[in-house]
Amino acid sequence: MQIKIFYFNELRVCTYVLWDDTRECVIVDCGCGNENECSRLQKFIADNNLKPVLLLNTHGHFDHAMGNAFLANTYNIKSYIHAGDKEMLAQTANIAMSFGYKTKNPPPPDGKLEDGQILHFGQSQLQVLHTPGHSKGSVCFYSPEEHFILTGDLLFQACIGRTDLPGGDYDEIMESLSKKIAPLPENTVIYPGHGPATTIREEKLMNPYIAEFN
Ligand SMILES: [Zn+2]
Ligand SMILES: [Zn+2]
Repeated sequence: MQIKIFYFNELRVCTYVLWDDTRECVIVDCGCGNENECSRLQKFIADNNLKPVLLLNTHGHFDHAMGNAFLANTYNIKSYIHAGDKEMLAQTANIAMSFGYKTKNPPPPDGKLEDGQILHFGQSQLQVLHTPGHSKGSVCFYSPEEHFILTGDLLFQACIGRTDLPGGDYDEIMESLSKKIAPLPENTVIYPGHGPATTIREEKLMNPYIAEFN
């Protein structure tokens, strides 16, 4: 599997494009915030001869979904989100406006993400881990074979996601980290929703929220 990272919109959301030799690709957290960013993503897809088949949201916060409408209108793509964040996703435009951003509502998702679900594209697969705490419906996408995990806003380099937004819960995020993240192999690469990639090993050393589960 190959991975391309874009940093989109003023909140610098990590938008991930994942693909394999079949050229089928998955887009995780489409954060394109303006036409220029949409064009950059579209050009990358065309230049690499990729076929977008799945749009996944790690959670329903507007900054991670500003490009959903563009993607759905441009490609024949299915979108999935956990049921816990479906209502929030439907309110994208209103919530964005309350933070001073203008964006379109995404079309309703085509399917639900659930803990333990396996998502298939090309010859590859991703495992869904339900990891609430930053929001009710926060999930991670894990590839044990390729040793990486996309964590959304659950976990960042040396930090964790906010728990003071609607649906956030500190006890829940700590439980998600202790039960779903800390047990992963130390060489697992972490691709977060904002900021640089890291690893489980680094976070066990540097991240005070994870270190306590050693
Ligand atoms: Zn978030
Ligand atoms: Zn975010």
